[in-house]
Amino acid sequence: MGPDIDVLVIGGGIVGLATAREILAGRPSTHLLVLEKEAGLARHQSGRNSGVIHSGVYYRPGSLKARLCVRGREQLLRYLGDRGIPHSLPGKVIVATRSSQIEQLEELLRRARLNGVPGLEWLDARGIRAIEPEVRGLHGIHVPGTGVVDYAAVCRAYAADIELAGGTVRTAAPVMAVRATGGSIEVRLGSGESILARYLVNCAGLYADLIARAAGASVEEQIVPFRGEYYLLKRERRGLVRGLVYPVPDPRLPFADVHFTPTVNGEVLVGPNAVLAFAREGYRWGAIRPGEFAPTLVSRGFLRLTRQLWPVGVREAYRSLDGNAFLRDLQRMLPALKRDDLLRGGAGVRAQAVGVDGRLCEDFVVARSHRALHVVSAPSPAATSSLAIAEEVVSRMPATF
Ligand SMILES: Cc1cc2nc3c(=O)[nH]c(=O)nc-3n(C[C@H](O)[C@H](O)[C@H](O)COP(=O)(O)OP(=O)(O)OC[C@H]3O[C@@H](n4cnc5c(N)ncnc54)[C@H](O)[C@@H]3O)c2cc1C
Repeated sequence: MGPDIDVLVIGGGIVGLATAREILAGRPSTHLLVLEKEAGLARHQSGRNSGVIHSGVYYRPGSLKARLCVRGREQLLRYLGDRGIPHSLPGKVIVATRSSQIEQLEELLRRARLNGVPGLEWLDARGIRAIEPEVRGLHGIHVPGTGVVDYAAVCRAYAADIELAGGTVRTAAPVMAVRATGGSIEVRLGSGESILARYLVNCAGLYADLIARAAGASVEEQIVPFRGEYYLLKRERRGLVRGLVYPVPDPRLPFADVHFTPTVNGEVLVGPNAVLAFAREGYRWGAIRPGEFAPTLVSRGFLRLTRQLWPVGVREAYRSLDGNAFLRDLQRMLPALKRDDLLRGGAGVRAQAVGVDGRLCEDFVVARSHRALHVVSAPSPAATSSLAIAEEVVSRMPATF
């Protein structure tokens, strides 16, 4: 008996759904199934993020991130317009509050220009105040094309496209085991059901490295979960910012740049920080899964990462536990901010791939194994870039399965 289906996609997050959609767009007769372990879509990174439509400022020119973010943003904006999904482009200001950050801010401007980010403007202190009257800084960059959207809504639209094109999205379907056999890939679900597929695409986010290795891929990267905790500006103080306001990122932990984001539903998110989580889906300090965390703790990559980054790790833990420390960092950019302007918000966990050398994996990574592709690293801006990542993944699939 042959395989039950042609392509099986693991993961009902934005990358898995965009990829499934793209496969069906190019090969409409494909018998395709998406498996998602949760009862609904976008329950992890894709539904627990800042909702920013990034422009492509930060990424190394020539990297996949730089290319796919700029292309993906354009594709996403067109898609949102076509589907009538609410979004806006309030623009962003990146602010240097210390003279030691100005060189890095200049480097960001250089990168952004090389990446083709449109409409950039270098600002002095007065220029910053003209755009964001409450924000103080020595210099800044205005990025007018930065936007916001609800990525869970985007996921629902992608899923509808998949169903319309004849694919199936199954929720509450956790993949427990993956085995590559000669002519197919066998996947066993939590229910005990077994499915045979001609080809597998692994977009399992926080679990992508484990699934990749189970399928026989020689993947050195390990996912280390970093929780990002948010505050919200209380309703009466939402007018403190007009658009997105970001600090110059700390190059040691670039994603810990706590910022202000006015969302599409009118709230203002403050955060996220970056705290080491003790479970891959550890949304609270108390969420500890020794079975998941212990292998990370003793891995070579993690030990090397800790040796390099422990001071930043301690700072982030302190900032998480002490709201005043969090506040002081923000007040450098926004002196009018007060402690009681901030309300505790939700959290997301980033799937940060770390190499055996302990280095944070900056770029998107797609690995190959027998009859399978694995999206091993899809950190921010993967939500912005989802349609372009999908094209990239599909371009790496064989012509026939
Ligand atoms: C705090 C935070 C803020 C962010 N802000 C932004 C932003 O503003 N802009 C931006 O562009 N990006 C942002 N990102 C990044 C972006 O959210 C992610 O890059 C993107 O959502 C990754 O999508 P994904 O589909 O790879 O992963 P996920 O959304 O995590 O999806 C993976 C899915 O796989 C499922 N799964 C896992 N294992 C199994 C299994 N065994 N069987 C079946 N299903 C399984 C999971 O349940 C999950 O639904 C942010 C991320 C975080 C955490």
